[in-house]
Amino acid sequence: MRDRITRNDFGRMIAGGAALIRAQHAMLSQLDCAAGDGDHGATMLRVAERLETCFGAGSPQDLRTCLSEAGWSVLGVDGGASSSLIGTFFSGMADAPACCAPVGASDLAAIFEAGLAAVRKQTKAQPGDKTLMDALVPAVTALRTAADGGKSVTEVLHDAASAAHAGAEATRNLTARYGRAKFLGEKTLGHKDPGATSMSLLFEGFHHGLEESKGESGND
Ligand code: ADP
Ligand code: MG
Repeated sequence: MRDRITRNDFGRMIAGGAALIRAQHAMLSQLDCAAGDGDHGATMLRVAERLETCFGAGSPQDLRTCLSEAGWSVLGVDGGASSSLIGTFFSGMADAPACCAPVGASDLAAIFEAGLAAVRKQTKAQPGDKTLMDALVPAVTALRTAADGGKSVTEVLHDAASAAHAGAEATRNLTARYGRAKFLGEKTLGHKDPGATSMSLLFEGFHHGLEESKGESGND
């Protein structure tokens, strides 16, 4: 069981999320062709590159600084709605008082809750509106529930990824009410929301990244 994670573990989480986005960007653009303007995969590729840079070789050793720089860097991506919301998510995480490595499960929940609170200041979309909130909100809720239930950091990320995945899948049965997709209305029925799918991939990658780092973090 892993009780607390270091800044480098967090970097491995981010790298895991970025790797999945990179692998799936073409699929993300296909989803956005059905429910938007087809640019989501390209935007998320740029988001992934910036996240990797901000946590990669030569980046600051302080978790708060890394998250803050990642947030600002992603906000600088010229990519529309999703990059702005995801940049805000990372900036918000940096503002959490608990954002100080090593991070336990409860701290991790608080960090992600702070990110979600920042996103909520930027959009009124709720779960059910067919946006990235359909994955993000259940992921953060599951993370908190798991942390309060005494689960390890790896376990809470597993639960968050499962909840995000279920939330993203469920967007197939929803009609879009925000963003470009809202103009397509019922035509979006049957298609997964691109942003919710990206958010689910990020959480899945965070979990994989941390799982893969098991045993590597002794020298962090
Ligand atoms: P754009 O729509 O500007 O081309 P992207 O294609 O990169 O941006 O991202 C589209 C995704 O952004 C949508 O699938 C949705 O999840 C999310 N999104 C768009 N507008 C909003 C909003 N107002 N609130 C929450 N999420 C949104
Ligand atoms: Mg788009």
